[in-house]
Amino acid sequence: MCDCMICERIEWIKKNKNPYFVRALNTGYVVIGDHQRIKGYSLFLCKQHATELHFLEPTFRDAFLHEMAVVAEAVYHAFQPDKLNYELLGAGRGLHMHWHFFPRRVGDTPKPGPVWQLGNELHAEEFLPQEAELEELKWKLDAELNKLL
Ligand SMILES: [Zn+2]
Repeated sequence: MCDCMICERIEWIKKNKNPYFVRALNTGYVVIGDHQRIKGYSLFLCKQHATELHFLEPTFRDAFLHEMAVVAEAVYHAFQPDKLNYELLGAGRGLHMHWHFFPRRVGDTPKPGPVWQLGNELHAEEFLPQEAELEELKWKLDAELNKLL
């Protein structure tokens, strides 16, 4: 068993114990972000434990990129930002790549720029969604995915 935080999250999905899980696609899993300081923050977790796109087999890589674009479009329609920001990160335990989607709105950070300027505020307990809010976020995103898939 590898010591990777993304593989751990995927295991929770497979055991039906990840409350943030929205839907499985062929190459990854769509989840709502743990903290909702940026409303609608969502992720797409690669099914394969890999650090870089070029380490993926080309057919899988192309499908992963295509599905990422579909997920991004669904996040955009579900949460209607001024601009949707994308990042492919793999920091933390395991370095397992995963897409972050941040539905950005004008004035949502003290100064224009990446969300990371918020530091610990991004992960503050007050931004953990309540159950009803989480269900609504998941429902909205899943409904938009339905239209595109
Ligand atoms: Zn992993």
